[in-house]
Amino acid sequence: MSVEGVSASLTKHLIYSSSKNLPNATTRDWFQAAAHVVRDRLVERWMATMQRYYEHDSKRIYYLSLEFLVGRTLSNAMLNLGLDAQLKTALYELGQQYEKVAEIESDAALGNGGLGRLAACFLDSMATLDLPCYGYGIRYEYGMFRQSIENGEQVEHPDNWLRYGNPWEFPRPELLYPVKFYGRVVEYRHEDGSLHHHWVETDDVMAMAYDTPVPGFGGKTVNNMRLWSAKSSRDFDLRYFNQGNYIQAVADKNDSENLSKVLYPDDSTEVGRELRLKQQYFFVSASLQDMLFRYKKHADGWAMLPEKIAVQLNDTHPSIAVAELMRLLVDVHKLSWDEAWGLTTQIFSYTNHTLMPEALETWPVAFFERLLPRHLQIIFEINYRFMQQVMHQFPGDGELLRRLSLIDETNGRRVRMSHLAIVGSHTVNGVAALHTELMKRTIFADFERITPGKIVNMTNGVTPRRWLNQANPGLAALIGTRIGNGWITDLDQLKELRKLADEDDFQTQFRAVKHENKVRLAQLIRSQLCIEVNPASLFDIQIKRIHEYKRQLLNVLHVITLYNRIRAGADGMPRTVIIAGKAAPGYAMAKCIIRLINDVADIVNNDQRVGNQLKLVFIPNYDVSNAERIVPAADLSEQISTAGTEASGTGNMKLALNGALTIGTLDGANVEMREEVGSDNFFLFGLTTEGVEELSRQGYDPMRYYHASAELKQALDMISGGYFCSDEPARYQPIVDALLHQGDKYFLLADYEAYVACQDTVSALYQDQKEWTRRAILNVAGMGKFSSDRTIKEYAERIWHVEPVTD
Ligand SMILES: *Cc1c(COP(=O)(O)O)cnc(C)c1O
Repeated sequence: MSVEGVSASLTKHLIYSSSKNLPNATTRDWFQAAAHVVRDRLVERWMATMQRYYEHDSKRIYYLSLEFLVGRTLSNAMLNLGLDAQLKTALYELGQQYEKVAEIESDAALGNGGLGRLAACFLDSMATLDLPCYGYGIRYEYGMFRQSIENGEQVEHPDNWLRYGNPWEFPRPELLYPVKFYGRVVEYRHEDGSLHHHWVETDDVMAMAYDTPVPGFGGKTVNNMRLWSAKSSRDFDLRYFNQGNYIQAVADKNDSENLSKVLYPDDSTEVGRELRLKQQYFFVSASLQDMLFRYKKHADGWAMLPEKIAVQLNDTHPSIAVAELMRLLVDVHKLSWDEAWGLTTQIFSYTNHTLMPEALETWPVAFFERLLPRHLQIIFEINYRFMQQVMHQFPGDGELLRRLSLIDETNGRRVRMSHLAIVGSHTVNGVAALHTELMKRTIFADFERITPGKIVNMTNGVTPRRWLNQANPGLAALIGTRIGNGWITDLDQLKELRKLADEDDFQTQFRAVKHENKVRLAQLIRSQLCIEVNPASLFDIQIKRIHEYKRQLLNVLHVITLYNRIRAGADGMPRTVIIAGKAAPGYAMAKCIIRLINDVADIVNNDQRVGNQLKLVFIPNYDVSNAERIVPAADLSEQISTAGTEASGTGNMKLALNGALTIGTLDGANVEMREEVGSDNFFLFGLTTEGVEELSRQGYDPMRYYHASAELKQALDMISGGYFCSDEPARYQPIVDALLHQGDKYFLLADYEAYVACQDTVSALYQDQKEWTRRAILNVAGMGKFSSDRTIKEYAERIWHVEPVTD
């Protein structure tokens, strides 16, 4: 752990891991060497942690997620191990700059957005809290696509993140499980008269484990993230080759290995493709087999299963686990249905991430039956018993049965995965207080009625290690000089900053750090996009997936409004509006919004009259590493979703933690953030959830707002008149139609006036740098609650019932 030791290891790895000597080593070689140096120091702690868990035979948490949006690992692992000073110095002495070396690493972009990033923050917190947890997921060969902008439009490129190898993963070719698909079910009677089921004539795929160490802060606990990769079962079946068609055998092998090839890039919409359900079942089946194998090392019977295993389902994506565990216990291990169901429902818990109907996962029954025939039978049996129980509890309420059924019969029979997850779980959670209340009142109201108390709230959080300590070293160091470093693992300590909020010295230093971060982002924008932005202007930032409900369009309407005011001679506070985010490749409207942002940027940024007063910048390829660059530079955080649509948000927390003030609606976790930082320190605007509901009831007419506001009308008329796209004037007709003629589903026009007025108060306050800084400090000070450590402690106590393991 000394500089000398690290230095010796670096040169050793350069030679023996990369076969390079100092003079001809590339920056990538140095990265590989640095990664191996850190990895060596992780491995010992990792093995010790696994040994500790084995000896304790402690209850394990299994976090099942189709997405883990981890980002880079080198900086995070180095900081968590306390190796940062040594590694930086050693590299420097060898003629290398740490920042340049770290920039080489590819992001592990195995997720879409918030849901996947939450899983990654949770792994960090569980390791830091010494909780025995395993993350289980898929090792996609291609993660989230890389986005480039060409002629203003999003272009998707494959993310070949493993091209140069992945120094953090350990392949486990000996750790393999078969996963079955298709085939048919044979019933037979045992000699004792009991009925059994064989799932036969299946197509099998092997799941092979790749393990990645997950270090907690301080480096004591290093947990495991186990990702499965699909391998052909042909490799393990020599007969297949011996029987003849070798070429076909190898071609088929490729087919089955396609299963873990690529992450589905859809955020908030379900794409009902066969490969998607296959991916879900593939990783769930392998993970459950692995858990039961581990359980069996200690136990004889099955009765202790719920004492040893807690499984969290991250959204409905892994909810087939409920049926799979039943299959394993009943068909393979020969438990009775009642015994197996009793165990299953003590093991699972499910997190809901969205109320939006288009995101709720359902599968056509016929399709399901072909792919997983035995699971469909099990789901029917679960449903039959569930319906009996509801009928008993609420006799004569056929409508209730229809609504609660695991099978939706309204247009073609479909399996409702959320109902399977709820019925199979002991606890269901929402991800912010408002979201949980809405769940209970709307989509899951019937479940709340039949099993009150089952739905609980676990407000999301983010890890302060990555999102402050690592991403914003300047601010982390400044905070450290005043209140020490305890906040890194106890974020509530940030409230000590409250008493510094009025202090001149602290304000000046705080502002200086923010300014440096803005200068750095401005340099990046200049070098990548050839746009000059003024670091003294207000950095107004909206970074998140592009989606209509997140209302990037409302932001654009405000930019156009500012542009029109400047053209009319007004001079306000200079602003730089920065937007970043990816659109799902099949989501035409979201892609159209990206193009509009870029077209508006082109006009505004090149208009001589505007000069330095306003800039609009779309930063391509929003991912974790870009978030780490952008977040520390934000003055203003845009959290402007229609009330009732954003389940929680976590970007909102990262930005406030880094000293941005929020302009936002009463939606998701914004509500709780505002409570924590104080309503005076939060720019609130817009309709509430009730306001939206009320307006819908009355009959919302967007045209009324269009005619009532001259500025709104002017902005919309410019978009529809082709002001920003003279080469193709009708380009944005779909956007204007959606707003004016198709009901403006997300109430942009209803909120426009309040939004613009609120932005005016933002601009006015920014003129008063002292007051702005005071409020920014109070925002940082109020973020203690939004550490994922707090969230994980709540899950551990109220859902999982697990304890830390430290010795
Ligand atoms: C935090 C984060 C998100 C989630 O952002 P929201 O504003 O909560 O939607 C999405 N993508 C990345 C890369 C993130 O880091």
